[in-house]
Amino acid sequence: MPTRGGSTKTTTTTDASLRVVFLGGLGEIGRNCFCLESEGRVLVVDCGIMFPDVDMPGVDLVLPDFTYLRERADAVEGVVLTHAHEDHAGGLSFLLRDVSFPIYGSALSLGLAQNRIAEAGLLDRTELIPIADGERRRIGPFECEFIPVTHSVPHAFAVAYHTPAGTVLHTGDFKLDLEPVDGRTTDLARIGEIARRDGGVRLLLSDSTNAERPGFTPSESSVGASLRTLFRDCDGKRLIVACFASHLHRVQQVAQAAVATGRKVAFVGRSMIQNVALAREVGVLDVPADSVIDIDATLQLPPGEVCIVCTGSQGEPMSALSLMAAREHQRVKVDDDDVVVISAHAIPGNETNVSRVIDALHRAGADVVHAGTASVHVSGHASQEELKLLIGLVQPEWFVPVHGEYRHLVHHVRLARQAGVPPENAVVCEDGDALTLDSDGLAVERRAVPAGYLYVDGIVGDVGHGVLRDRRSLAEEGVVVVIVTVDAVTGELVTEPELVTRGWVHEPEADELIEGARAAVRASVEEAVADGTVDFDAVRRHARRALGRYINKRTRRRPAVIPVVVEV
Ligand SMILES: [Zn+2]
Ligand SMILES: [Zn+2]
Repeated sequence: MPTRGGSTKTTTTTDASLRVVFLGGLGEIGRNCFCLESEGRVLVVDCGIMFPDVDMPGVDLVLPDFTYLRERADAVEGVVLTHAHEDHAGGLSFLLRDVSFPIYGSALSLGLAQNRIAEAGLLDRTELIPIADGERRRIGPFECEFIPVTHSVPHAFAVAYHTPAGTVLHTGDFKLDLEPVDGRTTDLARIGEIARRDGGVRLLLSDSTNAERPGFTPSESSVGASLRTLFRDCDGKRLIVACFASHLHRVQQVAQAAVATGRKVAFVGRSMIQNVALAREVGVLDVPADSVIDIDATLQLPPGEVCIVCTGSQGEPMSALSLMAAREHQRVKVDDDDVVVISAHAIPGNETNVSRVIDALHRAGADVVHAGTASVHVSGHASQEELKLLIGLVQPEWFVPVHGEYRHLVHHVRLARQAGVPPENAVVCEDGDALTLDSDGLAVERRAVPAGYLYVDGIVGDVGHGVLRDRRSLAEEGVVVVIVTVDAVTGELVTEPELVTRGWVHEPEADELIEGARAAVRASVEEAVADGTVDFDAVRRHARRALGRYINKRTRRRPAVIPVVVEV
């Protein structure tokens, strides 16, 4: 039996303690980032972004709040990258502006993450240190062991942190795929060994994405089988398959199915072309060279001999698939000779875009196959039975679910209790919480560090809650600006008040309303001046109040009202 609970406390963990600080990913899918702190040194695990919701107008992406790390910039030993999905690696090029650090990850993860860092011109602020499967490496005071796991990008890691306060196991994003495309399975044997050693695993941090989903997640190989059947059924048609550019095992299986049905393969979309080149270079992707052709060369072939693999599975507006759907793609014109396969699941927030693209493809005459109509996609995350299996194998002393919305974390805690973790030792934590693991057990400090959303619009800075609130209110109610020109000495109106509005009223009702609004402002300012007001702030207040009252009375709307007083 593994040593657990009381027996752990007899080991030599007297005054050693480890702090775990969650900066993101606990309460949302995205911006995954947590820190380990020991002996005054900090190791960061993943540094991801989140894609914006519809209620964040104009926001490009959302970052973790890096205040905690900026304040400890000199103590940061490095970042461990479990894998290179955007929700784990997308924030690196932002954090590197404030803090310089090396990044540890599989060669493929580093290769995939490198482009964004290079685009930001920050490669000189870091060192990319490749790690092999099973490797153990000391990073500052942290003894890290990198364990292979299966996921929807090849060469992902779980990491065991062996510290004086005990071992912490972080699964990273994972599933228990027993037939992975590359044969590299999750190393359950090694995880079992770590669990059985003296002290066992004191704290397990595990991926909660699919904690609500019963059963087992099907193997990635099952998609290959469906694709082969589908491709055979599409005899004579051109195939256009969209998937994540980082899902190289999916790309591999699409290419195999294409070659098996006598097709040539062309890759389209910047990140698809980049990632395929990298994957072929590091030996992750194996497609016969004579089966790969340029997109222009596909135009010389009959449709039934072509398979295009492209980006845009999330309906991203400027992606290859969206351009094809809008008939704006330079090379690929979609028509009724095409079958489009969307081999992905829409990330929350992207559903509307994906559905719009599917509609547009139908308008263009194409047939569309997606996860809702055929088995052309499986998840990269473990479902309930896999999660319980892992917890049962690890038998951690403490369990904290990570990587999920709040409800996923709650369900994961229930699974942990079913799998034998003592109820009081399975705890839901949120962004900003900090854990202290020592010989007394695990202490949770709620909201220990700043962990709010950092909204990025363009290339810099935090847009801030105030700006977002303004944008939402402008989007919903519009704006009315009134310009009042007054005599600098007497305060009397020099000209008629001018009104400029966006999003308040629409012609033809506008003329009469705007005329009424001008009259209301004029009357109010004249009255104020007659009472002896020559203070421009007071004039501005009068104009705002009169206009706001008029708008509310006549239209029951609440646009932003902005008075401008010009003195001449
Ligand atoms: Zn992932
Ligand atoms: Zn993830």
